[in-house]
Amino acid sequence: MTFTELETVIKEIGEPKFRTKQVYDWLHSKLVTEFDDMTNLSKSLREKLSENYKISKLEIVEKRVSEKDGTTKYLFGLENDNLIEAVVMRYSYGNAVCVSTQVGCRMGCTFCASTLDGVEANLSTGEMLSEVYEIQKDLGERISSVVLMGSGEPLDNYDNVIKFIRMLNDENGLGIGQRHITLSTCGLIDKMNKLQEEDLQITLAVSLHAPNDEIRNQIMPISRKHDIDSLLLACKQYSDQTKRRITFEYALIKGVNDSEDCAKELTQRLKNMLCHVNLIPVNDVKERSYFKSNDETIAAFAEILNSKGIETTIRRKLGSDINAACGQLRKGYKNSRR
Ligand code: SAH
Repeated sequence: MTFTELETVIKEIGEPKFRTKQVYDWLHSKLVTEFDDMTNLSKSLREKLSENYKISKLEIVEKRVSEKDGTTKYLFGLENDNLIEAVVMRYSYGNAVCVSTQVGCRMGCTFCASTLDGVEANLSTGEMLSEVYEIQKDLGERISSVVLMGSGEPLDNYDNVIKFIRMLNDENGLGIGQRHITLSTCGLIDKMNKLQEEDLQITLAVSLHAPNDEIRNQIMPISRKHDIDSLLLACKQYSDQTKRRITFEYALIKGVNDSEDCAKELTQRLKNMLCHVNLIPVNDVKERSYFKSNDETIAAFAEILNSKGIETTIRRKLGSDINAACGQLRKGYKNSRR
């Protein structure tokens, strides 16, 4: 519940207004998951709340900590027995959590482990918040940024995701700055158009992964619905409207999208865009013979973009010893249970 929704409940059960702030503070700032722990509420109110309401919470089913870089992956169980993953990355500037927004995904990108069994459910706002809250409690340290880059397509779960972002940002909750929240999409154009009207200062990341329709069609089924010109036009409109720079994600797959020609074509495509390119060495997908490009190829690709004034960075690989990439841990766990 948002603060306003909670306010209505408190009013309905005949409690004074100041109780809203207290209860909201316990839930979204102190992060308790039992009404009994809300010690500044009267006993009768705690009882009333426990009888009529429930605080949903994810259970940690498995946790893996990388020995290399401290990246920690969580496998969470939902109340209906579904499993989802989230990761926390420990940067010098703070802790960043990567959340899942759906159980599975229906976008079908050929290089992605999250989409193999399709989508099983949308996560609720509460479940997404719980990913961040449970990790913050487990770590005992503040989470300072959140990326919606785990399993799922955030814009395919639009309403819950927008509410999640607003509640994360709420100063009565964790108060994570909008500029410290990044939403990644494979490019659902109508939802991007809608998002630009939300008046949010978040960063939009767009999974491009190819400089043209021919290659994009091979690896991202969404590309057959929205061609690259329409997608880039939507991106341009988004950044014009929000004045926010877009991040383009580009996973380099050996022999598929990593040639010099691809880099040159990409510079042409992006030349008038307020953007930044993040190159990602792909996590190998052996089933499809997709392997990451050589380090030299990646550096050369970045150099071509940078030399044409398109700011480009190469994503550092974290948690490679713990199956930290999207969908990998859940998939392994499901297979072993089978
Ligand atoms: N559905 C959203 C967000 C989730 S995926 C999206 O498509 O953007 C988050 C990022 O991980 C996307 O850029 C996605 O393309 C990328 N990704 C998926 N599988 C990958 C892999 N095997 N290697 C590298 N990046 C991958």
